[in-house]
Amino acid sequence: MKEHFSLKLALTLFLIIALIMSLFAVVRHQQSNELFESQVTNNSKVISERIASQVSPSIWEIYLSSVNRRFSEEAASAVLSSEMKNLYIDAIVVYGRFGHVYMGKVSHAGEGVEPYLASLHEEHLGNHPNRVDHPIKNGSMTIGKVTVYFNDEPLREQVAKAFKLDLIQIFFISLFIILVLFFAIKRVLIQPLESLKIAKNTFNSLDEGILYVDNEHRVFNANPAFSRMTGFGLDHFVDKDCDLFSFDESDVGFWELIDREIDDHNTWSGEAYCSGNAGNVFPVQLTVSQVKNDENQDICRVLVFQDISKQKEAERKLKDLAFYDALTGLANRRHFEELMMQEIAASERSREKMGLLFIDLDDFKFINDSLGHNEGDELLVEMARRFNERVRNSDHIARFGGDEFTVIATRIESEEVLTSLAEDLIQLAAAPIVLQGKSYKVSATIGISIYPKDGAQIDELVKHADSAMYQAKESGKGKYSFYSSALDLKIQHRQRIKSLLRNCLDNNELYLQYQPKVGLNDRHPMTGAEALLRWNSEEFGLIPPDEFIPLAEESGAIIRIGEWVIQQSFKKVAEWNYKYSNKVVKLAINLSSHQLHNTNLVPFIRREMQTYDVDPKWVEFEITESAIITDFDASVVVLQGLKEMGFSLSLDDFGTGYSSLSYLTKLPIDILKIDKSFVFEVGESRRAESVVETIVALSKSLGLETIAEGIETKVQLAFLKELGCELGQGYYFSRPLSENDFENYMNTQFGASDNVVFLPGE
Ligand code: C2E
Ligand code: CA
Ligand code: CA
Repeated sequence: MKEHFSLKLALTLFLIIALIMSLFAVVRHQQSNELFESQVTNNSKVISERIASQVSPSIWEIYLSSVNRRFSEEAASAVLSSEMKNLYIDAIVVYGRFGHVYMGKVSHAGEGVEPYLASLHEEHLGNHPNRVDHPIKNGSMTIGKVTVYFNDEPLREQVAKAFKLDLIQIFFISLFIILVLFFAIKRVLIQPLESLKIAKNTFNSLDEGILYVDNEHRVFNANPAFSRMTGFGLDHFVDKDCDLFSFDESDVGFWELIDREIDDHNTWSGEAYCSGNAGNVFPVQLTVSQVKNDENQDICRVLVFQDISKQKEAERKLKDLAFYDALTGLANRRHFEELMMQEIAASERSREKMGLLFIDLDDFKFINDSLGHNEGDELLVEMARRFNERVRNSDHIARFGGDEFTVIATRIESEEVLTSLAEDLIQLAAAPIVLQGKSYKVSATIGISIYPKDGAQIDELVKHADSAMYQAKESGKGKYSFYSSALDLKIQHRQRIKSLLRNCLDNNELYLQYQPKVGLNDRHPMTGAEALLRWNSEEFGLIPPDEFIPLAEESGAIIRIGEWVIQQSFKKVAEWNYKYSNKVVKLAINLSSHQLHNTNLVPFIRREMQTYDVDPKWVEFEITESAIITDFDASVVVLQGLKEMGFSLSLDDFGTGYSSLSYLTKLPIDILKIDKSFVFEVGESRRAESVVETIVALSKSLGLETIAEGIETKVQLAFLKELGCELGQGYYFSRPLSENDFENYMNTQFGASDNVVFLPGE
């Protein structure tokens, strides 16, 4: 549209200028024509005058004497050759009064003079259009006349040429004028007009609401977006006070603040609230600016605003996501840290104590793994609800992660407050919870640290509450414990061992010992051995497996370590069975709960069996009750897999756990291993003896073999033999032996020519 207009303007300008210029050219043409013509006639007049005065005496003489043609020709020639060079004269004829006295025709501008020939000149000059006459006088008497015939053609050509040049000049001048005018007009007239138009269109089409108010806050203009957003028609507000906007902090008047800001800075920008026609109030991003005229006087104010409800909503959601746990609705870990920071600062100011409780649900993993994640979630939500109800309004509760919760107990007068809080929380957790129609009991363990005694920083307080929680766990589930620096050392030691465990394999710090298992008959022949893991740590020396295996399980290192035990045992068992051909050396390998629940276990064993060329009848796996019970169905599948491959299975530490008949019948096991804690007490405790008795009887009734571990004394051995327990293991027969010692042991057992084959059951 803009281009169209410019084109029109250019065209109009061009036409006007072209018209003016052509008029100008026409006049100019006429003028120069006239000028030239008068010049030519004037010149001719002068020439004829001059010639007339020169030739007058000669003519007279000619009259008096005879016709002296030669003389007249010479006279004319002289005149012409001197003056006429540049004039276009066709001929000069001198007439005497009594007849023609021709002086000559000038050809080629006076270069020559033709002698007179009446007929020729009549023919040539008879109707010559351009001629000037002048009388020749002698005194007062006219004796003849001079006629100059002039040629104006070359002059006209000259004029035409000059005119053409003029036209070109005029064209360029016009072009220049047109351009100058065009841009001047555009600048002065069109651009402001267009800007005005654009401003108007923008005003109408902008998504931002725009409102103009005068210096007394009376509305005098608004755009359609304003009506769209507020639901008010423009006419509703015109000439009324603008009272649409407000701030959240209700004690500050809107215009009061804006007036102040405008006075100081000419503009204000920020968030405010706008009331709509429907009684709604929505948040806006608002900019108020003072409009001034050229003299710097305040004219009005313009309010530009945007509805930011959507952004605000998104922001709120984001904040919820960022600061609250989606499942329980409690503060999340990040928010907890923020709250801790605030409370630490507040406690520092008020010099009051603050407690941090670190709560861990003891059986969450079991429920989550066995009942499924939905039930796990349900449990967490319920626990969060119970805990949340107990804490005071001034306290904070957060879900720290997984099954861990934290409580910030603010402004505590004494530790008793924390004690009763911890006791209550443990009790609340212990109340039965129904999941999938069944009632479960869950316990919580709590560690407590106190600000400022146990730390002045969040990290420290959390770490110490966490340590206290571990300490509490060691004394059993469902307990609480306050942090003490002594316990911290223990925890640090555990952490150190965990981290060393990562490299113990690469550093070749692990090795196996072998403890023989014997038949409980008179000769106590060796029926096999148990592979027992040893760790000779560079930093701590020998660390007992009871200490590091649970830590390896916690850190997950047990998987790689366990695989190494299997490989090493397979390697040895294959070697020995080759060496002592015919005498089966049966090696028992311990499997931890983590290994049992690793889906890779069965394929791994199958692969390694092939690698080391191991016959499964040479190997037995020992699994504890507690390992099986964490996921019974899955364990049965794994055990069946091992059984199908031909391995034997024994149930380790039997009697210490659930020992329930119903699951015992479902397990594909061959041997029950009576836990050493009962064996140790044989001869001392009647209760322990009856436990051993029962186990042997149970084992027999199920058609299983029985082995007693931890036999140290003759009394124990005798008791077990009496009961009919088939196999035994313990210091009484042999301590766990190094590889060399064990080979020596085997040599004495099997002897060079001994052909006895030891098989389970012998
Ligand atoms: P466990 O499977 O019950 O192993 C038997 C433990 O009883 C061994 O302790 C053994 O040295 C000890 N023992 C045997 N006879 C007697 C005795 O007459 N008197 C006494 N006081 N103790 C006796 P060790 O070697 O310290 O192993 C402790 C536990 O560490 C094992 O208990 C087993 O649970 C675990 N463990 C050892 N090696 C491995 C392994 O390779 N893998 C896994 N997962 N656990 C292992
Ligand atoms: Ca064992
Ligand atoms: Ca055992």
